[in-house]
Amino acid sequence: MQIGNRTLGGSKYPLIQSMASIKTAKKEEVLAQLKRCYYLGADLMRLSIFDKEDAEAFSYLSKMAPLPLIADIHFDYRFALMALENGAAAIRINPGNIGGKDKVALVIQKAKEKHAAIRIGANSGSLPSSLAKEGEKVKAEALLSAIQPYVSFFEKEGFYDIVLSLKGSDVRETVEAYRLAANTYPYPLHLGITEAGPKDVSLLRSAAGLSPLLLEGIGDTIRISMTEEPEEEIKACCRLLHDLGLYPNYPTFISCPTCGRTMVDLLSLAKKVETYLEEQKIPLKVAVMGCVVNGPGEASHADFALCGTKNNWVLYQKDQIIGQYKEEEAYQALLLAIKKKLS
Ligand code: SF4
Repeated sequence: MQIGNRTLGGSKYPLIQSMASIKTAKKEEVLAQLKRCYYLGADLMRLSIFDKEDAEAFSYLSKMAPLPLIADIHFDYRFALMALENGAAAIRINPGNIGGKDKVALVIQKAKEKHAAIRIGANSGSLPSSLAKEGEKVKAEALLSAIQPYVSFFEKEGFYDIVLSLKGSDVRETVEAYRLAANTYPYPLHLGITEAGPKDVSLLRSAAGLSPLLLEGIGDTIRISMTEEPEEEIKACCRLLHDLGLYPNYPTFISCPTCGRTMVDLLSLAKKVETYLEEQKIPLKVAVMGCVVNGPGEASHADFALCGTKNNWVLYQKDQIIGQYKEEEAYQALLLAIKKKLS
């Protein structure tokens, strides 16, 4: 299935997506954020259409953005029609809150006309009351049951460019729901743990939920949602896919946990190096180690390694020492060595 110039389901890795955090009507700010996300590795970006100004701005953004845009619409089918008219490669709707079946049918017709996909999904937070009894855990079956009537309706309307999502905030239920969906439907799946929390919480929760599915070959596009800017979500998606061996051309960063032997400021150097590698998307293996106990060993497996000694850093390229630097020189020395290798 095509979403703009991206192929869903046929790519080497599940497509990476996030959602802009700025009101869509602020189009220049949004465009700058879309470009940053694209540069970091986003394949698709979602924009919320909350009012007429957003829907109008979408026209400009869909022309200017470096990647396909998905419009996210709730409550008013007219914004879905406008977004499709204004260049949305896909839309995300909740067919249950868009104004009735006749309105959903109008949106489907417009999507057909524009060759756009529609993502429909259940979210544990907005299940119908008949399926989400208060005080009970949302069950995987309930998430699947919530989308079944919508899928049938879309199929009856002859529309098959459907992407499904079944996001729960509970890891086990979400994993089970996606497994059920993968066994039930032929449609691409958008994976995510919903309302996953702040960055550190979300990283663990999302990795716990998405990894088993991705390793089973389930999932065509992913979002790691977190209470953070979308740039952080994109970096997290790249990192997770890379660690699972599904996204090869990406940095591998290694650093030790530090201990009483550490006599350098490893924490701040490690953070700077990690940020540099991910923002520049440099596909090298780089290690930052606190001392020479494990440092040289890691260095021999890495393209570059910095190993701390007493207030100094030893820089390795593979297993060869190429320099020794004071704390304040080490970062720049590493960057210089990387640039030299890549030039
Ligand atoms: S590499 Fe050295 S400083 Fe880092 S945890 Fe291991 S022993 Fe401690």
